[in-house]
Amino acid sequence: MKYNMVDLGGQYKKIKPEVDRAIQEVIENTSFINGAAVQKFQKSLGEYLNVKHVIPCGNGTDALQVSLMALGLKPGDEVITTSFTFIATAEVIALLQLTPVLVDVDPDTFNIDPVAIEKAITQKTRAIIPVHLFGQPADMHAILQIAKQHNLFIVEDNAQAIGADYTCPESGKTKKAGTFGDIGCTSFFPSKNLGAFGDGGAIFTNDDELASQMRVVVNHGMKVRYYHDYVGVNSRLDSMQAAVLDIKLRHLDEYASARQKAADFYSNAFANHPKIKTPFIAQGGTHVFHQYTLVLKDVDREGLMKHLAGKGIASAIYYPVPLHLQKAYLDPRYKEGDFPVTEALAKSVISLPIHTELTEEIQQEITDAFLEFVG
Ligand SMILES: *Cc1c(COP(=O)(O)O)cnc(C)c1O
Repeated sequence: MKYNMVDLGGQYKKIKPEVDRAIQEVIENTSFINGAAVQKFQKSLGEYLNVKHVIPCGNGTDALQVSLMALGLKPGDEVITTSFTFIATAEVIALLQLTPVLVDVDPDTFNIDPVAIEKAITQKTRAIIPVHLFGQPADMHAILQIAKQHNLFIVEDNAQAIGADYTCPESGKTKKAGTFGDIGCTSFFPSKNLGAFGDGGAIFTNDDELASQMRVVVNHGMKVRYYHDYVGVNSRLDSMQAAVLDIKLRHLDEYASARQKAADFYSNAFANHPKIKTPFIAQGGTHVFHQYTLVLKDVDREGLMKHLAGKGIASAIYYPVPLHLQKAYLDPRYKEGDFPVTEALAKSVISLPIHTELTEEIQQEITDAFLEFVG
């Protein structure tokens, strides 16, 4: 492909001297696990997010799992989440023998629908996992109100929206996505907005007790060395990844601006097209465009993707199968037709290359090729 979904090489070139130096430093001081770089990065990230505790871990999936473990949920407890997300969100619920309760999404933002959450609450509901999908915060104001009213935990899956802001319409206060609920989770998978050179993740919270519990869970359930009070896991961010991330964090706002600029270019090119719905940005939030996702109407999506690929342009479908129709998650509680918005989106969305290294020339080529097919 001439134009891939991401351009990690191009991004690296711009920060090569600082990143190379930081990696070399870790190699030389050999403190590969939980070294100074990890301590430094967790502090920097806490300051950036304005959150009290950051617990680094192995990846975004672990971050979600550790969160649910620390909340002390028991098998059979229900956790409400969206039917339109990456599998990890529901996977950890199922792995812990909790019951995933899926709900439909908003057709404009693709984020979990608060009205649907409210309808899904039962005596067994313990937590809600909103996902800030594609880089846009979910309707946290409504979700926080529901959680408060029903005494539920909120674990935000912020794997795609690190750096996005959200302003509470009532208080007028602006905070970072992922810092509204009891716990926020993120992923540093290389293609994420803050991507490492390997796997990584982090959990954030303002709750002292939850933070210390999560530090115990990620470290084999151990408070005092070799005394294990809980069944935990082994989930660590290594020092080399932390060193890279600490540098990339300084560029995160720039990266978000580059993504927003690229999104504007696409949205202008596709504006008012009868067959293309461009991303909707809800009031109160900023969108950091982890993905740039269009909804197509009466377009042969497969044909379009082939046409683009023929010109060396990558495109992708996030996500082709709603969670309730995934083979491993088939459940007699759900059937096709239960989540009409998610099901329609799965059939009609398409994502275009979006990253920090796009130029107007590249985007012109992409939009020309796109419109050549769509008409
Ligand atoms: C990437 C992602 C995860 C999982 O992160 P990993 O680091 O790959 O484990 C979880 N949820 C969402 C929404 C994601 O996009």
